[in-house]
Amino acid sequence: MKNITFENINEVRNLFSISKKVVVLCHKNPDGDTLGSGFGLYQWLENQGHKVDVMTPDFPPEFLRCIPNFEKLIIFSQNKEICRQKIFEAEIIFVIDHNAISRMGEIGDVISQPKGIKILIDHHECYFPENLFDFVLCKPEVCATAQIIFDFFRMFSEQKFIDKNVATALFTGILTDSISFTTATTTAETLQIAGILLSYGVEKNLIYESIYENFSENRLRLLGFALNEKMILDKEFHYGYISLTIKELEKYNYNIGDTEGFVNYPLTIKGIILSAFFTEKKDFIKISFRSRGNVDVNVFAHQYFNGGGHPSAAGGKYFGNLENAIERFKQLAPQLIQKI
Ligand code: 5GP
Ligand code: MN
Repeated sequence: MKNITFENINEVRNLFSISKKVVVLCHKNPDGDTLGSGFGLYQWLENQGHKVDVMTPDFPPEFLRCIPNFEKLIIFSQNKEICRQKIFEAEIIFVIDHNAISRMGEIGDVISQPKGIKILIDHHECYFPENLFDFVLCKPEVCATAQIIFDFFRMFSEQKFIDKNVATALFTGILTDSISFTTATTTAETLQIAGILLSYGVEKNLIYESIYENFSENRLRLLGFALNEKMILDKEFHYGYISLTIKELEKYNYNIGDTEGFVNYPLTIKGIILSAFFTEKKDFIKISFRSRGNVDVNVFAHQYFNGGGHPSAAGGKYFGNLENAIERFKQLAPQLIQKI
């Protein structure tokens, strides 16, 4: 495994000197950053004559349709044989915006087998198995993988292959993962890069509308229900949480992506520094964590909830029922808060 640097970028560049078959792998529960990065890379490589396929383990939310070429996404769970074949035939495989096998869904079962050169571009702390990747460009301090993808293009000095589609995809990634440029990891460089991307003609109003002003009535009423009836606060230990059962989600005709962002609401209350959001799934409980200041939910999710992410935004799973998942969180949360 080699970290990609300015010193060895020519080694990576040489891989692309002739037309290559490339597969770009995005993570499970795909979000704006993994798909924005994936399709930004897709268009940039296609513009240079490479043959690219973008895959996710499962379905993305519809509001990400503002990402150019979204309709070309191949869903692994729906096209297993075709996907396997493409992954095994690929000369180069990019893994984008994730590195833990648990984030790869069923693709995780095959990822170590193909012969293609594997390149990781990510902004999560790295937990991947040794020797899985040939080249790694991983910067946990950067707010979005899409920003690192732009850096990667700059390292290549091939900015002429950036066009409006590439810029729109990358802008969407940065916008969503930086929570509209508000996270602590949003820097002057983030805003400079966003500015450069806009200069390619990105219609930022259309992206914003597609992502933030495109909800169903059910989604907004589900949010109202979650905040009014399901949000619990512990003011002594400064945390809050929301939980939703399958039945409650069904009552509001839940669609993929509908609960995106719910976890952020408890954190908007003065004095709350830790928030958790529990969703009941068929075989497990999905949990999202968000925090402020020095409360590190990445380590917390990794240690106690089979997950990971970033210091202030992480996720994980609990294998058991909803009540027990919440109980475990309530037992562990005070220690996490008191540690700081
Ligand atoms: P979300 O709460 O929005 O699902 O995820 C927040 C962050 O945590 C994202 O950066 C995501 O990549 C990471 N994350 C969410 N679920 C998991 C998980 O099950 N395992 C790991 N390693 N990371 C996760
Ligand atoms: Mn990301």
